[in-house]
Amino acid sequence: MRAVVAEMSVPRYLLTAAGRPSLLTLRDDAPEPALPAGPGWVVLRPELSGICGSDVAVARAKSSLVLSAFYTARRQILGHETVAVVESTGERVALDPVLSCTQRGFTLCRSCREGRPNVCERQTSPAQGFDAALGGGWGERLVAHESQLHPVGAVPSRRAVLAEPASIALHAAMRWERRGDRAVVIGPGTIGLLLTAALRRLHPDLDITVIGPGSRAAAMGATRTLPSGPQAVEAFGAVLRPRMTRTPILVDGVDVVFDCVASPPTIDLGLHLLRPAGMLVLIGSAGKQKVDWSLVWNRQLTVQGTVNSAPPVMARVVEWLADPSFPADGLVTHVHELDDWEAALATATAGARAGAVKVALRPDPSIPLVT
Ligand SMILES: [Zn+2]
Repeated sequence: MRAVVAEMSVPRYLLTAAGRPSLLTLRDDAPEPALPAGPGWVVLRPELSGICGSDVAVARAKSSLVLSAFYTARRQILGHETVAVVESTGERVALDPVLSCTQRGFTLCRSCREGRPNVCERQTSPAQGFDAALGGGWGERLVAHESQLHPVGAVPSRRAVLAEPASIALHAAMRWERRGDRAVVIGPGTIGLLLTAALRRLHPDLDITVIGPGSRAAAMGATRTLPSGPQAVEAFGAVLRPRMTRTPILVDGVDVVFDCVASPPTIDLGLHLLRPAGMLVLIGSAGKQKVDWSLVWNRQLTVQGTVNSAPPVMARVVEWLADPSFPADGLVTHVHELDDWEAALATATAGARAGAVKVALRPDPSIPLVT
């Protein structure tokens, strides 16, 4: 079958030496995913599959060295944001890429027993879409377990393909136990915009400031938008100025900061915006970074990491996406066929600079899109 395949065994020095753009190649002879033993496995044919920041990181060999312990597959077929048709029934489904004890046929671990397979204690690879064995959404076929599938009915393809990032956004929003009225979202990419919409849906009266480039946040429910940088702090009110560093500290700080970028400047900005005992939720994939953490202990902040979601959260966002009043139209800005995967990846990498929010691949044009 046709699929974009990542060869993880290519040494990263060869990438720069040969000027190779990525670890990925489009292959016509990609291995057909095999149905695992046991009941409940089905073949899916993707309608659309999104390109996530984590996919770009894999393609550019920028993945975390620590997490390479989990990502052991030497060959990967990417694509974990997928709306697909079940080959045997024709049913349209959104894929939950989380693989936990249920799919692996293990006795349920503590987390899985508690209904939190997203923090499965036996996770040996974090999610579908990072291994060729089951396939991924950037190929013509993949296999998945029925416990991973969320029927989407007649939800348009360009909305349904957002189910996975929307579930990450809602899961992140639910990490915060509300104790105040002001939230900040840093990074209005797909996750940041869907998070803004989720916060607005959960908290109609919340004051939400979105920091970063782009002009779509207001339509998602943001109260205001600000450009990024240390000067953003002063837009909130009175500040203290440290003698030795550049970013001012907000006196009357905000209750929660959701950092969808998680780079040193955005983490630094978030820490300076928070009130004492506030919460920094890291949704972006932070790695080895130099950050001054003084405010974490001094102001007794909570730093909460988050990724993926639990099945009830995904079911809830599928309901939201079926509701035309949920502002998800227009977030899929680009759709490319597999032949154009390199252009798609370049557009996804450029993000707001290319006018892109979500870039999606369409692996098999014979599968009709629902509009
Ligand atoms: Zn488990």
